[in-house]
Amino acid sequence: MATTIGVLAVQGAFAEHINALEQLGVHGIEIRKPADLTDHPLDGLILPGGESTVIGKLLRELALFEPLKDLIEAGLPVLGTCAGLILLASKIAEDDTIHFGTMNMVARRNAYGRQLGSFQTEAEFDACGQIPMVFIRAPYIETVGHDVDILARVDHHIVAARQGNMVVTSFHPELTADLTVHQYFLRLVQQRILQTYLVR
Ligand code: GLN
Repeated sequence: MATTIGVLAVQGAFAEHINALEQLGVHGIEIRKPADLTDHPLDGLILPGGESTVIGKLLRELALFEPLKDLIEAGLPVLGTCAGLILLASKIAEDDTIHFGTMNMVARRNAYGRQLGSFQTEAEFDACGQIPMVFIRAPYIETVGHDVDILARVDHHIVAARQGNMVVTSFHPELTADLTVHQYFLRLVQQRILQTYLVR
């Protein structure tokens, strides 16, 4: 059966993620309402960039918050980019808001300043070599817990990390032609499919 990845599509850069998935031969479906989570069995989930406060509010209004949190806590592979990273953080610096809070890290919103916060660079991503990274009013990760692996740094700041089933980037991998981050995430998805199959 084809791999199916749900892409949260309530606000932000979701279409570009679906496009990246399609390029890799994976079916991406838009998640807008609770029924979208049950109509198709999902192998993974992408939380896109956008505005985390707006996405967080919509998640609650659309009754998506609890079912998504349950899926993430149950081990569904999830890729959070930019605002998606903020949604997963267990703590947001100088902010009392917590959204899913499932990943052991402190994220700082708009960490590069509000106006000059957009830039492009290249840096090493895990063992995959140099990749292009587009930052748009991006967060970075200030600190991580011992159970979190750091995947990328730019100017000494952590910009990508993984904890179990959760992968986050403070940049936008869906806005360049490079598919490294999506491929990395899909390897995780395949591993989980295999594990589930083997324990059956
Ligand atoms: N600044 C946004 C936030 O705090 C994130 C920006 C983005 O996703 N490109 O939610």
